[in-house]
Amino acid sequence: MSEPTTAGGTGEGTRAVRAGLPEPVKYEPTLPGPVFAAHFHLPGEPTGPYTYGRDENPTWTRLERAVGELEAPGRDDVDTLVFASGMAAISSVLFSQLRAGDTVVLPSDGYQALPLVRAQLEAYGIEVRTAPTGGDAQLAVLDGAKLLWIESPSNPGLDVCDIRRLAEAAHARGALVAVDNTLATPLGQRPLELGADFSVASGTKQLTGHGDVLLGYVTGCSGEPMTAVRRWRKIVGAIPGPMEAWLAHRSIATLQMRVDRQSATALAVAQALRGRPEVTGLRYPGLADDPSHQVASRQMRRHGCVVSFTLPTRARAERFLEELRLVDDATSFGGVRSTAERRGRWGGDAVPEGFIRLSVGAEDPDDLVADVLRALEESAR
Ligand SMILES: *Cc1c(COP(=O)(O)O)cnc(C)c1O
Repeated sequence: MSEPTTAGGTGEGTRAVRAGLPEPVKYEPTLPGPVFAAHFHLPGEPTGPYTYGRDENPTWTRLERAVGELEAPGRDDVDTLVFASGMAAISSVLFSQLRAGDTVVLPSDGYQALPLVRAQLEAYGIEVRTAPTGGDAQLAVLDGAKLLWIESPSNPGLDVCDIRRLAEAAHARGALVAVDNTLATPLGQRPLELGADFSVASGTKQLTGHGDVLLGYVTGCSGEPMTAVRRWRKIVGAIPGPMEAWLAHRSIATLQMRVDRQSATALAVAQALRGRPEVTGLRYPGLADDPSHQVASRQMRRHGCVVSFTLPTRARAERFLEELRLVDDATSFGGVRSTAERRGRWGGDAVPEGFIRLSVGAEDPDDLVADVLRALEESAR
């Protein structure tokens, strides 16, 4: 396969639409279709790049280049690996880097599957410490750690920590640093530029943005840690299907339009909710008076599509969700169609019963704000 075209322009939208495309070939599609292959024609010595479908696939290669161009533009000392899901990517970093006797620092307020991961790490003899994301609380528990895991903004609480500061402190103690970049997307935040060793994300959310693909990825500096992650992917076989990888690549072309639209509308929704008497605990890092705003504005270029807030009771929250017409009651976030849920229905997150996580889609901002305000009114009846 030919080398990728470097995006001719410098703008992020230009980079997104051209990310990972091969050099044009006459009569071939701009983005070649998915390559469905369990094995590749391989006479003689088994030299790469494409031998067996669990190791490598040209459709992944193109997607990996695309994600790498967005996570670390202009750098050729970085590798990206795609995975079957965000959890596959997260587990592959943790389980490839940590050994019995090592210590890892995880957020206490991160993605809801992290406690399950914690139990498994502990079963393998790895010490797990936790600290909340806000206020850089992880600084206090870094001594002796092998790996620091950051999730910023945190899901669902939307706290933000100073990635550069934490990465410097971790590196000073010899620890590696991974950042879960799911909520921000690479257009919202570039963890490697902030000093992280790995940027890890679920591509299931806003990266692909249509609620129809599960995917994950890891971007990191080329070297032994990434080689170990690659080996782990091969061992556990946590690989995406070619169709999913291709759909993801196609979706990345619209990433800038989606994140710009969705973060602008999320701010409009947050501003509309701010004046409401029944709303407490409103969080959106883009709001000037949000506790996360200062740090977020230093390290993020867009503030994301998730707004969280609390209604007085569980019943009120459930009525609000029922009254919404343009917002589906569904979990996950980042899609072009708005979704919301009462997060407490899952258990696990330390949130009040009336806590709502609202993911703002690509609807017209006025329509969405009107729908949310109407549902708030109706739910009071
Ligand atoms: C959804 C999510 C994950 C897990 O991703 P999957 O693709 O569902 O496996 C990890 N981290 C964060 C912050 C998420 O929102």
